[in-house]
Amino acid sequence: MDFISTSVENIPRIGPQYQKRLKRLGIKTVGQLLFHFPHRYEDFSNLVKIADLHEGGPAFIEAMAGKPFCIQGQITDIRVFRAFRKRMMLTQAEIADETGKIKALWFNQPYLVNTLKKGTFVCLAGKIRGKKSSKYLSSPAYEKLPENFKEEKADLTHTAGLIPVYPETEGLSSKWLRFIIKPILASLIRPENELPDSLPKKISEKYEFLSIKDALWKIHFPDSLKEAEEARKKFSFEELFNLSLFVLKERLKLAKENARDIPINVGLIKKFTENLPFKLTDAQRKCAWQILKDLEKSRPMNRLLEGDVGSGKTVVSAIAALNVAQSGYQTAFLAPTEILAKQHFKTINEVLKNFDLKVALITGKESYFEEEKIERKKLLEKIRKNEADIIIGTHAIIQDTDPSTAKKTPLQFSKLALVVIDEQHRFGTEQRAKLCRQKDFIPHLLSMTATPIPRTLSLTVYGDLDLSVIDEMPKGRKKIITKIIQPHEKESAYEFIREQIKEGRQAFVICPRIEPPSAPQGGAMEGQAPLLDERSLSWMDVKAVKQEYEKLSKKIFPDLRIGMLHGKMKSKEKENVMWEFKEKVLDILVSTSVIEVGVDVPNASVMMIEGSEKFGLAQLHQFRGRVGRAEWQSYCFLFTNEPGFVTNRRLKALVSCDNGFELAEKDLQIRGPGDFTGQRQWGLPDLAMASLSDTVMVSEARNEAKEILSQDPQLKKYPALRERLQEFTKRIHLE
Ligand code: ADP
Ligand code: MG
Repeated sequence: MDFISTSVENIPRIGPQYQKRLKRLGIKTVGQLLFHFPHRYEDFSNLVKIADLHEGGPAFIEAMAGKPFCIQGQITDIRVFRAFRKRMMLTQAEIADETGKIKALWFNQPYLVNTLKKGTFVCLAGKIRGKKSSKYLSSPAYEKLPENFKEEKADLTHTAGLIPVYPETEGLSSKWLRFIIKPILASLIRPENELPDSLPKKISEKYEFLSIKDALWKIHFPDSLKEAEEARKKFSFEELFNLSLFVLKERLKLAKENARDIPINVGLIKKFTENLPFKLTDAQRKCAWQILKDLEKSRPMNRLLEGDVGSGKTVVSAIAALNVAQSGYQTAFLAPTEILAKQHFKTINEVLKNFDLKVALITGKESYFEEEKIERKKLLEKIRKNEADIIIGTHAIIQDTDPSTAKKTPLQFSKLALVVIDEQHRFGTEQRAKLCRQKDFIPHLLSMTATPIPRTLSLTVYGDLDLSVIDEMPKGRKKIITKIIQPHEKESAYEFIREQIKEGRQAFVICPRIEPPSAPQGGAMEGQAPLLDERSLSWMDVKAVKQEYEKLSKKIFPDLRIGMLHGKMKSKEKENVMWEFKEKVLDILVSTSVIEVGVDVPNASVMMIEGSEKFGLAQLHQFRGRVGRAEWQSYCFLFTNEPGFVTNRRLKALVSCDNGFELAEKDLQIRGPGDFTGQRQWGLPDLAMASLSDTVMVSEARNEAKEILSQDPQLKKYPALRERLQEFTKRIHLE
């Protein structure tokens, strides 16, 4: 077995307790341990004499300003005492070098008196605290030095130069990780511990990347930040390269499958567009044509149709479905929620009413065939016999659960040729296969999304999809007026909403999730969401909505009719509320961020977003798209309680820009891809995530991946790469 696959159990200093803790970080092998990279470095490169830190000394001002320093000396005194009136143990030491003395103070670490005994030579690194007269090093990092440390330059791990700080977990500190990782790195010079470099040699040479050994050493223990950056560059490139290989291979895999080739019926499509109450935009035409051209082929389409809310994606998909139906095949149309499925059912029936097509609706509870209610069993039968042309349902119909038996069986179609998925970015090959029983043919796939995807993401994370973009809104839509509302302007914003309602309009209110009580300390990666299960998350949504609802209905608008919508409500209740809002029984709808906002209520003219700083730009843009769907001037109010610099930059981007794609690019630049849609949604390695905004690197990695696959699609000449890719595939789940 090669060295990097060796289990961490075989490392001398890692006992069962630590094995368990490492497992919590997903680390089981030496390789995984070596690839557990620091997420930042503590800069302890400022080794000074103690006198330099005292008033008048050259480092004094910087030390008082909070810059960390490092000193080397001998412990001349150390003692433990209890802090006055606090239940806290303090360890106080005095350290001396040839220039002077300084105190050090640690909290709740009484065992230090046994480790750092009087007379010990130590290196201490940390910040200076306290008043001028009583300065001390506050909880400094420490490392013992050999007595002859002055003659031989000490090899320090924790207190000199740049010190790596790792993603930690409870009971597993950066200090411990440094202590373990350093000797492993040192052992890499042994020939039997040779590390394979999975990045092909000619690529490494072309970009002058560090060797794997150097890069590992420099990412863990760099001499300068520049060195760390150099190492990081190699690994980032590698992750992007692997990601590109992965998506391109998916593409190749799909290209080998068969799909029904559906000829384009130009006359029929002309008739359809002439029948529409409006003229298609050029962008809609272009996209429809791209889709129809794909359907003509006998290999499966894998296309993402992107377009801002209200850009008219449904009609485009209806054209595709119509063309498929006229060739005698079926289309399944999946929506994320029941309300949306019903809305699509209505729309599709309407736009196709002059064509002899059978449209069906199937949700968890109801089934309709040609606008008539029908028994579920009967409908399933019709679908199986190809008596229904377009079948609309929720995403869940792929795993159709029979309500009477609770048994899960995939819906059976006889001639399914096209699957349209609304509001989902991607839909895996496996799920697609599930929808289709005939193994020799798999359906074409059209995903639709209003989430604009930045270019670098469409090349990487979405690199296996072809893109069609509706980059133009139907004519005559008014620009939505967007305003940031500071806390002191709330009153007048409420007043404005009242005016709008008086004029007959309606308003949406979106609430952000209430923050969880506290994030787990130390365990989570920086910037990573605390670990909460879905249930507690939706519970917090509910709490936020209820609070807002109470406030608005009791205090602010006691005379108006206000409804509330959240994920914990029964589907019947939700539908009632939506129906009431649509029918103007309600003036204001207070809702959570995640559900049922896709519904069409053209009469609404105000979108008010509480705590807008908590949402991603892309998501805010989506909310905004819920208004401005009719002739009225519409408004989007961004309430914020945290008018900080970054928040303002983001919200201002929204005010000045109404193009979803531009906003997505800005969001990616400002916040990085991890937050792109408000949460980390892909299981991508951190380095890959971090480099997704590096346009140049993304396209270089993709080009190299293309090149290598065109010469050697099975990667036969690159066994190390093939192995790495398998591991990579296991780690990520892009669905
Ligand atoms: P989305 O892209 O958000 O799914 P929809 O397909 O729901 O948008 O379309 C939004 C509204 O715009 C619908 O009422 C639809 O009939 C209308 N619409 C679509 N295309 C056009 C067009 N070219 N001109 C005018 N209205 C259009
Ligand atoms: Mg839509």
